Amino acid sequence: MNEADPPSGMPNEDTLVASDIHIQATYRLTEALVAAEKKMRRRVQLLSEVVFETDSQGNLLFLNNAWRNTLGYQPEACLSQPLRSYVMEEDRSRFDLSLSSESPVQARFLGVNGDIVWMECTATTLDEGGHVGALRDITRQKQTQDEVSKLSLVASSTDNMVIITDRHGLIEWVNHAFTRRTGYVIDEVRGLKPGSFLQGPETDPQTVALIRDYIARGVSFSCDLLNYSKSREPYWASINVTPIRDSAGNIERFISVQSDSTNLRRTQQQLKTAKEAAEAANVAKTNFLATISHEMRTPLNVILGSTELALESVSAEDRVQHLRRINESGETLLRLISDLLDISKIEDGQVDLERVPFDLRTCLRGALEPVALAARGKGLDFRILCDERLPEMVLGDPGRLRQILVNLAENAVKFTSAGFVRVDAAFANAGSGPILELRVADSGIGIPEESHARIFERFVQVDNSTTRTRGGAGLGLSIVRFLAEALGGAVAVQSAPGRGSEFVVKLPLVVPSAAPAPEVGKASESTLPAVCRLLVAEDNDANFAIIERHLTNAGYRVDRAANGRLAVEAARQVRYHLVLMDVEMPEMDGLTATAGIREEEALRNLPPVPIVALTAHAVQGYRERCLAAGCSGYLAKPVRKPMLLETVAALVKPGGGGEGELCCAAPS
Ligand code: ADP
Repeated sequence: MNEADPPSGMPNEDTLVASDIHIQATYRLTEALVAAEKKMRRRVQLLSEVVFETDSQGNLLFLNNAWRNTLGYQPEACLSQPLRSYVMEEDRSRFDLSLSSESPVQARFLGVNGDIVWMECTATTLDEGGHVGALRDITRQKQTQDEVSKLSLVASSTDNMVIITDRHGLIEWVNHAFTRRTGYVIDEVRGLKPGSFLQGPETDPQTVALIRDYIARGVSFSCDLLNYSKSREPYWASINVTPIRDSAGNIERFISVQSDSTNLRRTQQQLKTAKEAAEAANVAKTNFLATISHEMRTPLNVILGSTELALESVSAEDRVQHLRRINESGETLLRLISDLLDISKIEDGQVDLERVPFDLRTCLRGALEPVALAARGKGLDFRILCDERLPEMVLGDPGRLRQILVNLAENAVKFTSAGFVRVDAAFANAGSGPILELRVADSGIGIPEESHARIFERFVQVDNSTTRTRGGAGLGLSIVRFLAEALGGAVAVQSAPGRGSEFVVKLPLVVPSAAPAPEVGKASESTLPAVCRLLVAEDNDANFAIIERHLTNAGYRVDRAANGRLAVEAARQVRYHLVLMDVEMPEMDGLTATAGIREEEALRNLPPVPIVALTAHAVQGYRERCLAAGCSGYLAKPVRKPMLLETVAALVKPGGGGEGELCCAAPS
């Protein structure tokens, strides 16, 4: 062996060089690995997700800084602790299971301050046992999910309709309330614009345009809109639309919450109508009071003024003229009061209609006599034409027929300054039977067409200023219409301004089958007994004086009782042919006195004396009260001479008085 040769078994130089190279390579590799590991660890430390490693026992070997940032623990302090000990007890077994099956799991971890942190864990099992994995904080996501599911529960179960659309306004979702109200299910309407199927003919286009504008501008809005259900039933929707924006402020979708406000609107409408009606009634009342006040003050003014003049007057001729004016104004007042009473009775549904046989022509001509006088006084050509085919006797209510005719004829005279007034009573045959056709035509101021329907309403006058110039309270035509309809007929008008007016009343004609009975209240004075002694129970001196004068002028003998007690006393002493009994008297009223007289008669077995009640209570039901108290008849004040004499004559005539009832209201 050469001295230079290394001993056998010793590495030679080549081997040593090779080994050195190898060591150096290994060293460099190790250094690179350590550097890579360090780099990796630094990267892992920067992750926002928790990165962990456990041993096969599940104890922590590694945790990055995110552990501290998420749960608040120092990672070093937690090493060697089981990872599962940081999981809430209820979630632990689920956590273990999914860890071993390598499936992701969401579990609640407990933070250092006892706060709950939702983590989503993904892990993988290492060859040598143990796990390496990541934990992601999903607490915010969970809270949002919770809120969304609560909101969707609310949206599903609320009674309000909820529509969610995308940013173009196309439906994505509707709730049950929407389906219940509209009849549309989500599959029918998904992708449609709500307006394309909910709106209909009555939907307000202006509101629709406003909605489009709000949507285009992406602003919240509320409005009310008439929508239509699937069955095309209209309903009112109170709509509230809110745009939902993403974090960048762009509109993602719109949420529309709608409630059915149909009932609310109906109630509001009813309240509005009721309020308007109340206001209108108030205005009508004010106008009514103003009109009535005017209508009453005008004749009262004449009465008082003419009375003063009559008292001062020395000439008999002058006095007569004043008295005539007083009489005319009294008549006007009486007519107004009768109209008011009639209207109040009509409103209370308390109008009684008579059905008696009467002479039609006599009734018509008698009713029109005073109107004809007034018309001729104004220089008008006044004519009455009666169709020959009209029957002589008819069955009905002569008083109401007179009232209709007088109202129309008086209006014709009132609203005509020159020309004619013509009343035409014609016979016509309608399908339902014979008809009386009354036409009252004039050449007066006429009525504009738009007022034709209104003038038949209460207190309506075409021109309120006519009240001042022509008088009237706007009641006559409403009474005419009511009476015409109550008698089974109708009234209509044809008129134009400046071309006169024609009112036509059509009434069914009924001819009495039996022989005509004499008209009530038509007894003639020639049938009176030779001496008639009457008792007038009246406390008011002026009223007694008027009645006494009318009766004595007609040939009766009159005694007076100034109260009810004196009337009973007088009736006990004298067998009167008739008693006129004022109802309101001091000491004892007329009805008590009547009952007293009837009691006395029953005790003494005497035939009953006719007692006629005189009362200012011209209201429904009072007549019945008088009759129930034992009265034979009833006269409403003011007592007019013809009616007074007719009533008295009818009750005291031989064989006619005593038991019969006779009721007479003051003529209108
Ligand atoms: P009044 O005559 O008391 O005012 P009405 O009810 O009788 O009340 O009539 C109502 C209104 O109808 C009158 O105010 C008048 O404007 C109009 N009118 C009635 N009849 C005539 C007529 N013949 N010519 C013109 N206008 C009339």
